[in-house]
Amino acid sequence: MRTTRMAVVAAVSALALAVVGCGSTKDLDSGSGSGTQQNNSTGYQLKAATSLSGSVQAIKDKGKLVVGTKFDQPGFGLQNPTTQKVEGFDAEIARLISIKIFGSPDKVEFKEAKTAVREQVIQNGEVDLVVATYTINDARKQKIDFAGPYFQAGQDILVRKDNSTIASVTDLAGKKVCTQQNSTSLKNLQDKVPGLKAQTLDSYALCAEGVKDGTYDALSTDNVILLGLVSKSPDELKVVNKPFTTEPYGIGLKKGDTALRSFVNDALDEVFTNGDWDKAWAKTAGQFLPQAPAKPSVDRY
Ligand code: GLU
Repeated sequence: MRTTRMAVVAAVSALALAVVGCGSTKDLDSGSGSGTQQNNSTGYQLKAATSLSGSVQAIKDKGKLVVGTKFDQPGFGLQNPTTQKVEGFDAEIARLISIKIFGSPDKVEFKEAKTAVREQVIQNGEVDLVVATYTINDARKQKIDFAGPYFQAGQDILVRKDNSTIASVTDLAGKKVCTQQNSTSLKNLQDKVPGLKAQTLDSYALCAEGVKDGTYDALSTDNVILLGLVSKSPDELKVVNKPFTTEPYGIGLKKGDTALRSFVNDALDEVFTNGDWDKAWAKTAGQFLPQAPAKPSVDRY
């Protein structure tokens, strides 16, 4: 009798574990499910807002949040070739906003938004938001608006591991340097190294390949992007670690959409203090940069 009861208890526990297991596996896919279950398995505290207004309600009615992000930046936005899931800190920030709207992290439809097209995809309505290592600046604010910042990066330099000639931005004079068109990285290089003719590709990952094979001497963009790329090739590449700009990352959205901007800013303020920002960091870029930089404050301009 006693043995039988123990066997039943063991069987029920095993079943409970199996059910929990199913829930978490489902979350790793981009399937749907109940909001509460999803939030528990992601470990986030954030809950859905109780009332939504204007454009935010319209996103809820549409049933999904369309987010432009990078697909080739380890740590911030990287599409897993096996699961197709987009992984990284930017992707997690998008999932947190999805929780705030829908009560579930899985209502995000990610679209690739490379550096050169970010303003364009917001302006033509292809996406609701761009969360893509996207520096807030006045030139971009002429075309779109930004919520945030939610992170602060700084521009740095990536070189081959055996390089001993490039130790700071001024050493880039006369060198073959790769970056992307329409990035603040290109503009900053032009400002800091007069006469530099930087080469541009439409992917920092491709620039890094070019540094590895000797096509370029260096790749210059935000330090966290570079650290993500080095984490994939630690024996061949290194970051100089002399940041020379500040790059506050914002969430791009349609110009004049104050309802969506304040909603996203409120969500950011909440995740800065409830521990969710730190959890998102720890499971993404925090894997190669455990000490997260200080959180910025939201700028409600
Ligand atoms: N944060 C910089 C920018 O928005 C460089 C990184 C990128 O191109 O995504 O231009």
